[in-house]
Amino acid sequence: KSLNKLIDKLACTHALSKEEWVQLIQGRDSEVSEYLFSLARRTREKYYGDDVYIRGLIEFTNYCKNDCLYCGIRRSNTHVNRYRLTKEEILSCCYAGYELGFRTFVLQGGEDGYYTDPVLEDIVKSIHTSFPDCAITLSVGERSFESYQRLFDAGANRYLLRHETYNASHYARLHPPSLSAAHRQQCLWNLKKIGYQAGTGFMVGSPYQTPENLAEDMLFLKELNPHMVGIGPFIPHHDTPFSGERAGTLDLTLFLLALIRLLLPKVLLPATTALGTIAPDGREQGILAGANVVMPNLSPGNVRKDYALYDNKICTGAEAAECIKDLEQRIHSVGCHIAVTRGDSLNTAEET
Ligand code: SAM
Repeated sequence: KSLNKLIDKLACTHALSKEEWVQLIQGRDSEVSEYLFSLARRTREKYYGDDVYIRGLIEFTNYCKNDCLYCGIRRSNTHVNRYRLTKEEILSCCYAGYELGFRTFVLQGGEDGYYTDPVLEDIVKSIHTSFPDCAITLSVGERSFESYQRLFDAGANRYLLRHETYNASHYARLHPPSLSAAHRQQCLWNLKKIGYQAGTGFMVGSPYQTPENLAEDMLFLKELNPHMVGIGPFIPHHDTPFSGERAGTLDLTLFLLALIRLLLPKVLLPATTALGTIAPDGREQGILAGANVVMPNLSPGNVRKDYALYDNKICTGAEAAECIKDLEQRIHSVGCHIAVTRGDSLNTAEET
């Protein structure tokens, strides 16, 4: 079949043209997907064996100055119960996580002006001093080059900033005019230049997204060559302008995960919370399509429901860091195991 040939080409050359990406994305069926998943699994095994890395996700603020049309914690949603965690609360999440085997902490939040450079630097330094063998990942949106540099110097090693969509006009339909695709992408180049292990990504099935848009996302991933790529289905939130839109599908998300594994063989690829939200075994299926990271929730139990980016977001069971045994079992069921290490990306500039 011609699509299988395209997949073979991707597996060999780690690149496709825009037209070829569109052809694959549009033409996929279950047979092609199975073939793709088997190659993606083999590629993951080649570089990472059966290791799945865990990251403890600490959602430390749901205040946000932005008004992204898809996001439940957008500024104009007045129904959100807003919270901020103190340095002490964040550190106690880290202590609990360390005991459970986490060696990477991901601090994620809205763009909250309360966390100025000095405030965030102080938090990062404290985590770095208390847990010198752990990696610190930040995911706090767009900041200046200087700000990223200061946080790096304070001890942050990694940064997650999804580009959301490469195409400028699609980007503009998902965001308020104050935000632009170009600025978001510039932030990613800045992060890489400073020396962060950078993660980017996008939502699958976001409103107005076309196969051409996804093809452009794949070309951008190739160009940026990030250390990590986080993709997950768009899921509507009832208090946003996109409340009536359809969610992205499991099928397309798995297909794209596997394509990304072949495009960037050594990249870290999470099976995201959103994937686990649209299907009960979404993350296991993600691992079977080439993913190798999961990010259980380490936030204090009483705030988890308030970090609602979309409806029905899972935060209990295997999604909760304290239920790591449940997660371990699920990961075992697909032939993998949890690795208690920092799990650094093998996708470094020197090696690719
Ligand atoms: N403020 C930071 C930023 O802008 O990168 C980090 C937090 S932001 C809420 C994290 C990610 O959530 C976004 O990059 C977006 O892709 C995802 N997200 C937001 N709303 C979503 C939705 N309705 N469905 C799926 N993912 C969503």
